[in-house]
Amino acid sequence: MKSEARGRAWRRHNRDRMICRAIGIVSREQPCGTPDEIRRSALLRADNLRDCTCSACGNPRRYWKSLTMAERRARSASRQNDTD
Ligand SMILES: [Zn+2]
Repeated sequence: MKSEARGRAWRRHNRDRMICRAIGIVSREQPCGTPDEIRRSALLRADNLRDCTCSACGNPRRYWKSLTMAERRARSASRQNDTD
């Protein structure tokens, strides 16, 4: 699946999807926030949901010089494809 073959509608769909996820996360973090406040915070966080960069939540490549979860997943998927 080539992501560059997807168009504007796909990007808008994914942007909306990430805004919905951010609304869920922000509303759990700010249970007393008004819908307007939650929506504003969610729009700010939608591109990058993780707001903490400590060594426990941050990029493991940066802190521990090890692979990120996505990289490990991609590597094990390509290994499985090699054996097939
Ligand atoms: Zn953290």
